[in-house]
Amino acid sequence: MSQATRIVHLTPQQQELLEDAEDLYQNSPSGYFSFRRNGKIFRINKTLLSWLGFTEEEVIDKLSFSDLVTLGGKLFYQNQFYPLLIMQGFVNEVNFEMRAKDGETFPVLVNAVRSTKSDDNFRATVIDISDRKKYEQQLLAQKYAAEDQRKRFENITRLLPEIVWTCSTNGTIDYMNDMLISYANAKHRNISGYRDIVHPLDYKKLLFEWKRAERSNSEVECELQLKNSSGIYFWFLLRAVCFKEEETGLKRWVGICINIDSQKKLVRKMDEFLSIASHELKTPLTTIKAYMQLLERTEIEPSLASYVTKTNKQVIKLQTLVNDLLDVSKIQSGQLKMELSEVSANTLLTDTVDSLRTLYPKHEMILVLPQKNIMIQCDRNRLEQVIINLINNGIKYSPQSNKIEVTLTEKNDKAEIAIRDFGIGISPEDKKKLFDRFYRAQTPFVTPGLGIGLYISRQIMLRHSGDIRVESEQGKGSTFTIVLPSKISA
Ligand code: ADP
Repeated sequence: MSQATRIVHLTPQQQELLEDAEDLYQNSPSGYFSFRRNGKIFRINKTLLSWLGFTEEEVIDKLSFSDLVTLGGKLFYQNQFYPLLIMQGFVNEVNFEMRAKDGETFPVLVNAVRSTKSDDNFRATVIDISDRKKYEQQLLAQKYAAEDQRKRFENITRLLPEIVWTCSTNGTIDYMNDMLISYANAKHRNISGYRDIVHPLDYKKLLFEWKRAERSNSEVECELQLKNSSGIYFWFLLRAVCFKEEETGLKRWVGICINIDSQKKLVRKMDEFLSIASHELKTPLTTIKAYMQLLERTEIEPSLASYVTKTNKQVIKLQTLVNDLLDVSKIQSGQLKMELSEVSANTLLTDTVDSLRTLYPKHEMILVLPQKNIMIQCDRNRLEQVIINLINNGIKYSPQSNKIEVTLTEKNDKAEIAIRDFGIGISPEDKKKLFDRFYRAQTPFVTPGLGIGLYISRQIMLRHSGDIRVESEQGKGSTFTIVLPSKISA
């Protein structure tokens, strides 16, 4: 019986199945071909033909497996692939470069197995892995780029004279530059986090700053002492920023520590010097002041009287300066104490502004008071000192204006005293540092001063459970507001 007669006997369902199987073979996403022991191909599917650019006639019984691969592939086929196939009956996942009719090559993965029907025939599947190779190459390129970036970061940090590190959000240090390794002798000590090298007294401060920065999404900035390899502590300024890793989505910190030990020591020496100098100056000044007062009360030649008044004014200026320096020393040594008593803010402001009106007769000082009397717990002299300092500054830094506004208000059990001027104003950068010790902003003209008035004022307000803030616009003026707890009396 001929084959044709047999097909005629297939049921329609069988016929359909056969057609489906043939379609699957021909148009599968993989290439298929069958070859004999001598390598000659006797069957090949359409997919593989389309990749190779041959017709079925050009391949069947004319070309061998090794004709379809590059020279290297040919050698591999003869020396490895074919012997293995004969020996074990299958070869899996071998990479070949296939060569198309037009000479173009493309990477493939070949699986071959001995035919179930004949020991002399073999079947092979071919998977085009051009895309996979492309992805692999892209992945590799990205890996190299990341590696390059890491190397660049490490090389830069190696050259830096400062300590550089990165750490995870739980504080585990996962990168240290050479500076940190040698400073902390990290190779021989097990340093996993900052707790291991930060001075115990500074560690709490660091954690506090860290949490604050995390909450407000800002930088950490903290002065602290780090232990070196010999166990000695040196002062550093730690600055760190948080960033999110693109790859993992995890947050991590990168930071530097700048050695500020010599500056710190210099500042300490300066503090010591200022403390001694101000104490030494105070005694002779008090004596001079006493003699000047005596002279004022003595009948002297009228031509000399004006000299006495002028000298007295200068002595008062000198005394204010020395007192300020003494205050700084007291703040530094924790000895600035307040003597609190209940005071009417309305009266205190009226008296203070009145005395300043006499001192600055050309200035217009507007005092705005609420109808109700606002009572505050304060050290009268110290609060007066703050208000005088703020009004003095308002005048000093307002060369084009002679107006100062002082306003007292009460909000949520807090008394607010706002001192407004219409002067040069303050830049946003200066605003952040204005209350630091010895900080002076750049001004378009020369003004005398030491940069300690606002520092002392703030420290005084903090000791009243209050604070001081500033709002300013450059060229338009500034408003310094002091805030302290209050109660209203009728
Ligand atoms: P000093 O006036 O002696 O420099 P302060 O501590 O009182 O010290 O002030 C610090 C700095 O703040 C000043 O040097 C000045 O640059 C700036 N400043 C203070 N008050 C004002 C103001 N009302 N307007 C503009 N700048 C001000």
